[in-house]
Amino acid sequence: MQQHIGFIGLGIMGQAMAGNILKAGYELTVYNRSSHKAAALATAGATVALSPKELAERCEIIILMLTGPEAVDAILGGGNGLLSADCKGKTIINMSTVPPAYSRELAQQLGAHGITVIDAPVSGSKIPAELGTLVILAGGDETAIKQLEPLLLSMGSRVIYCGEAGTGSSMKLAINLLLGTMMEGLAEATHLAEASGLATETFLEVVSAGALACPLFKIKEQMLITDSYPPQFPFRHMAKDMQYVVEEAQQSGISLPVANQLAELFDPNAPDELLDRDFAAVKSLLK
Ligand code: NAP
Repeated sequence: MQQHIGFIGLGIMGQAMAGNILKAGYELTVYNRSSHKAAALATAGATVALSPKELAERCEIIILMLTGPEAVDAILGGGNGLLSADCKGKTIINMSTVPPAYSRELAQQLGAHGITVIDAPVSGSKIPAELGTLVILAGGDETAIKQLEPLLLSMGSRVIYCGEAGTGSSMKLAINLLLGTMMEGLAEATHLAEASGLATETFLEVVSAGALACPLFKIKEQMLITDSYPPQFPFRHMAKDMQYVVEEAQQSGISLPVANQLAELFDPNAPDELLDRDFAAVKSLLK
């Protein structure tokens, strides 16, 4: 008998990922704090739970795609929280980007109650989430992750096993440091080109004509040309992730000079108007 899947967190990413689970033929129950975001999935055939508790009572495997640790804690705890249901024997796959230490603690704490916890953040943004081509970075019990692979591959093109609990989150932070560095680099080089009187289009054409060409730069090209930044990966999320990177570097006792600067540029206390735009809007800070 096919297992019943639960999905909590129907934001930019979760909406598309849950849709792909449904398309793959799984029985799916969804929950989102702002209930209107569940409407399209309900029309497509998902059951909508009224609380995380209700969802947990129906589902053996529960996927979380939430902002960060605060949101995960809010979903797990409280009278109608996920953990208020009997979750023994169930699996929680946390696909949210969170600090590795948080993932390790969650796996340990819930593991003591017979719950399997996998950290499985993703590389790839809104469009790969829609296309089902995310790269899934999995940490935790290897046998459990192997068993979950068909489900994970309904949302992604690859599952990369990173190691024990927390290593999926570690991998995600390393990848996002590179992502932030590359985006800021492109923004800064574009700014120099423009300040030198070059046309933005011509500069970006040169970038994509040579060895620097890459999918990220291609995806962000129109945003930089039009100076408009509809959110795919919101600035707000890159800002929180750079804070996690800096904390991780401090805990590991290593020096990451560029990350420190990125954590200042991607300021989590920036105005909402900036936080809600795509992270390519880092270019607007250089003006
Ligand atoms: P999003 O659109 O902002 O959605 C966030 C989700 O978390 C929403 O469902 C939101 O519910 C929920 N949430 C936030 N705080 C909550 C709370 N206190 N209690 C209950 N629910 C809460 O984010 P997203 O872009 O889908 O990203 C989700 C995760 O994936 C983040 O960790 C992000 O860093 C990571 N990620 C994002 C991308 C990307 O390109 N967007 C790529 C890779 C990884 P409401 O709808 O009620 O606000």
